[in-house]
Amino acid sequence: MENMDIESFFVCPLCRGNLSRKDQILSCSGCSRDFGRNRSIRDFRTVFKDPSTGWSAEAFDLAYEEYDQGVGFKDRKTYAASEGIPIAADEYLESEKELKIKNFVRGQKPLRMLDLGCGSGWFSFEMSERSPETVIYGIDVSVYKASVFRDQIISRNLENKLVSAAANGENLPFPDAFFEIVVMDEVIEHLLEPNKTLKEAMRVIKPSGYLLITTPSRFMTKFWKLSAIIPTFLKRLCKGEPLSRENKRDLHENLFHPSELKSMIRESGFDIEKWERVIFLPHESYLQFIPSFLLKIMIFKARLTGKIPFLKFLGLHHYIILRKTR
Ligand SMILES: [Zn+2]
Repeated sequence: MENMDIESFFVCPLCRGNLSRKDQILSCSGCSRDFGRNRSIRDFRTVFKDPSTGWSAEAFDLAYEEYDQGVGFKDRKTYAASEGIPIAADEYLESEKELKIKNFVRGQKPLRMLDLGCGSGWFSFEMSERSPETVIYGIDVSVYKASVFRDQIISRNLENKLVSAAANGENLPFPDAFFEIVVMDEVIEHLLEPNKTLKEAMRVIKPSGYLLITTPSRFMTKFWKLSAIIPTFLKRLCKGEPLSRENKRDLHENLFHPSELKSMIRESGFDIEKWERVIFLPHESYLQFIPSFLLKIMIFKARLTGKIPFLKFLGLHHYIILRKTR
């Protein structure tokens, strides 16, 4: 794969026409649309906002940039530390969710995979470490995040293993049947058009290829949100913080009921190969309110619970493997 010109793989995200390069601009031979660079990365975005739902690409950029506060790239551990997530919980979540994905990818040995909604790419780097033979493309609607990813790729000298660009999941700048695996880790609930994105994933995946999805369970998230209200208020009271807070991170979170997810999947044409629940632990942001001894007990119980099929509905995240069989 050495010396490949990564840009030569990109196609027009709207009409899939070939792109020709003029200086810094890629021009589509089909619809004449131009795609330039933004913060040093390729910007293939075609939709920027939707007034009817309030979805906005700019909101993602603002929220992330403010959130990172100039820290830039965050790996898993730095993220956990900055969120106040206890290390034991972070390691548990890692082993239960990300590890499943990493092991699956490593087992498949894909030539190319897409990390759809890659953020700053920390998970792409981790997958790449375990699957060094795979070229990983990461796209995100946040130009800010995609550019943080790009800077890390360059500073780690991994330009022929990892590629970063800005794009909408609904209009992917890749040819048909390009990837063996597409991963959407905690992404589908933030999309403007999840239906359309699933169909796009179907298009860019090779026959017999896989789409991996993780997304929070709506029921369990509500349960934990409710359970965390009192400790959250107590914590704010003790720290002298305002009790109610504007939610500045407007990341368009729209959690699905499993039946909604299933009907979208059916419509997109994928077959469901596996649907698991990743066991019972509150959302990352609530973990900081739980005393560590209690957390250790919870993790112990969660591990036991995970072995009992009957209790699996307590899982906080859906872990779904879809396959393109037609
Ligand atoms: Zn075009």
